[in-house]
Amino acid sequence: MIPQISLPLCTGCGACVEACPGEVFILENEKSRVALPEECIECGACEESCPVGAVSLVDPA
Ligand code: SF4
Ligand code: SF4
Repeated sequence: MIPQISLPLCTGCGACVEACPGEVFILENEKSRVALPEECIECGACEESCPVGAVSLVDPA
């Protein structure tokens, strides 16, 4: 599983960036972007941290 961001929902608050134990997300143009999906350990913290439900863990296939 890898995180996926719904850009229309993302407010760029940075909570997912802070919550992630790795460096999976970066903030870019006031949106979160999945920069290093290979660092994801599937902990679920990003999904829980997002106040607007913009992050979901999805099957990379
Ligand atoms: S599931 Fe965990 S490791 Fe993966 S992107 Fe979300 S916070 Fe980071
Ligand atoms: S926590 Fe949600 S709203 Fe905030 S930057 Fe991440 S995806 Fe965007």
